[in-house]
Amino acid sequence: MLIVMHHNASPAEIQAVQKAIEALGLQAQPIPGSERTAIGVLGNQGYVDDASIRDLPGVREVIHVSKPYKLVSRDFHPDSTVVDIGEVRLGDGSVPVIIAGPCSVESEAQILSAARLVKAAGARILRGGAFKPRTGPHSFQGLGVEGLKYLRLAGDETGLPVITEVMRIEQLEDVCRYADVLQIGARNMQNFDLLKEVGRLDRPVLLKRGMSATIEEFLAAAEYIVSEGNGRVVLCERGIRTFERATRNTLDLSVIPLIREMSHLPIIVDPSHATGKRNLVPIMGKAALVAGAHGLMMEVHPEPDKALCDGAQSLSGEGFAHLMEEIRGLFMYLGYTEK
Ligand code: PEP
Ligand code: MN
Repeated sequence: MLIVMHHNASPAEIQAVQKAIEALGLQAQPIPGSERTAIGVLGNQGYVDDASIRDLPGVREVIHVSKPYKLVSRDFHPDSTVVDIGEVRLGDGSVPVIIAGPCSVESEAQILSAARLVKAAGARILRGGAFKPRTGPHSFQGLGVEGLKYLRLAGDETGLPVITEVMRIEQLEDVCRYADVLQIGARNMQNFDLLKEVGRLDRPVLLKRGMSATIEEFLAAAEYIVSEGNGRVVLCERGIRTFERATRNTLDLSVIPLIREMSHLPIIVDPSHATGKRNLVPIMGKAALVAGAHGLMMEVHPEPDKALCDGAQSLSGEGFAHLMEEIRGLFMYLGYTEK
């Protein structure tokens, strides 16, 4: 429930509403805005009878929120969230952030070489999977903790923060030891126990959209993390499963402007998993930036044809450097100035 106060409501009137909410055994969260103050109601699991609130002085409107998310919605939090990752700022008002690196960490030499080339081309965060969610059990499953160590080494050498996927709660301790950003993959978007656990940490989280998740389910998953106290959540559109098999998934570009309207959290796009095709990655990545994405995450491999995972959608160092040139031009066109 959201209580919208008249623009000239006095502090005493706002306080009285807060008290009335608390008297119902619920929490009140004032949301000051430039035009009016609203008060969010938290803690209810069903419909709240607003009889003791709606006629209080200063109350303009009582809105019953039936969505499964509140804290991540713009209604409850009108100002856009910017997530700081070391020196990197991800969100409104900052230049979109390019995250790049191989699908998986394969060896120390491979991730070092990938890190150097993505850094030289202008990437600001290094990606690399150590725990891999593979469709089949016979495929390369990742190097585990050894991979995390190589990733950290490559991040430290190049000065890039690193992001990697965590699949299970038991992996969190190791992943937190080596990574700057925790990635929750598409397959785990609704692993609610994992979401709650990362919600209790003080570490940025990249939450990927489940391949069959609606926008509402996607935001409700983010709500699990934020409700536990961790507000540093970045959303990631990575394509959804449709009837179309010519691409690996179908990139849903319309979620970018939609989510920017519905939520204050930043949203980035992964055109690699969305398309599954190296030649489609640059154009769809640029399209995502035009649509308002706060960043891109792309797979880049020093030798894509030898990649142990997702080579077909991985850009080569050259391909990535060329794309980054184009992206810099696009940033100028879109009016981004600072780095
Ligand atoms: C990944 O980014 O490494 C990955 C496995 O992607 P997704 O969870 O979107 O399939
Ligand atoms: Mn991959």
